[in-house]
Amino acid sequence: MYSEQCYKLGSNRSAIRELFEYGKQRAAIVGKENVYDFSLGNPTIPAPACVKEAIVELLETTSSMEVHGYTSAQGDAELREALAQYYNNTYGTKFHADNYYITCGAAASLCISFRALTESKEDEFIAIAPFFPEYRVFVEGNGAKLRVVKPDTENFQINMKELEEAINEHTKGVIINSPNNPSGVIYSKETIEKLAALLEAKSKELGRTIFLISDEPYREIAYDGVEVPYVTKYYANTIVCYSYSKSLSLPGERIGFVLVPDEVTDSRNVYYAMCGAARALGFVCAPSMFQKVLIKCLGQVGDINLYKTNRDILYKGLTELGFECVKPQGAFYMFVKAMGGDSAVFCEKAKALDLLLVAADGFGCPGYVRISYCVDKEMIERSMNAFKKLAEQYI
Ligand code: PLP
Repeated sequence: MYSEQCYKLGSNRSAIRELFEYGKQRAAIVGKENVYDFSLGNPTIPAPACVKEAIVELLETTSSMEVHGYTSAQGDAELREALAQYYNNTYGTKFHADNYYITCGAAASLCISFRALTESKEDEFIAIAPFFPEYRVFVEGNGAKLRVVKPDTENFQINMKELEEAINEHTKGVIINSPNNPSGVIYSKETIEKLAALLEAKSKELGRTIFLISDEPYREIAYDGVEVPYVTKYYANTIVCYSYSKSLSLPGERIGFVLVPDEVTDSRNVYYAMCGAARALGFVCAPSMFQKVLIKCLGQVGDINLYKTNRDILYKGLTELGFECVKPQGAFYMFVKAMGGDSAVFCEKAKALDLLLVAADGFGCPGYVRISYCVDKEMIERSMNAFKKLAEQYI
């Protein structure tokens, strides 16, 4: 009567959402200030002022039809042109308007890409652990298989040996996400160069194009001047999936893009396949008002210093208490080794102290937990006592 696959997806709520709901229930009992909810990655810094200014100006000076009407399926031509110019000026690339397809956020960009590139149910996309768990849903939901490469727990860059072994005659693409959710690590230029060399060699050896799907919603959220290499400059067959959910703090507005550069093999036809996938998935014509807002806000980012302050307080506090974690260079997540080795047990002990942490098993990295620090600084400060009590149970 209905799809078993969709039923399973709809009836099993994500563990992160469950925890978030639990946090709300608990807050009603013990008080909001006594629950330390580090579960969700919902940006807390306000959208930059240009967003409100652009909305007000649009509403006051533009006709309803222009603000709220349909745009072209692939997005407003003026926005796509502005995007090309912005990226060319910033990264020295040579994009043009017809390389861009405007989407309803990175989730849509990824689904469109997997749908457009999948030719057979044997096709595989490779995710590098730790990875955003929704990749599995997006890949499988669009008819392909997800293969996971084990993490390099030394530094959370890419485990190249494992990746090399994972690539096979069914590999369609490799998904990367840097700055990374959940590790906070940024893939270095050296990592991207090695990855590009490996994918070029493997494409040649297997006689097929292997795409690199670069999922980049956190591109601008990088601290201490760490460079986030622009991936299309290193590997020709790169598809970029971008979103303004995090950089402009607009997750509820659903706006982003897919970029298919001219350097991609058979680029025009791949772009048309993206247009077709968006059509088949019902993702044409992304929110019109926010397309127009973007034209006025390209290059703007929320005040990420607030996240950096949170990172610094949390990293210092947790390492002093004896927790092991890589210092995040970007995004707003900290990846911490579960004391005792079992992340489920560790998270339960934390939960008993009203500390809501996410076990990283679903991110392909058992034995770790994710702390999402896009929260109030005061909550982090208040939570330190609970982290201390948690550590004391192990030391
Ligand atoms: N990719 C990663 C790595 C994410 O963390 C998220 C959201 O948290 C997404 C994609 C989806 O982003 P969007 O809200 O733009 O759909």
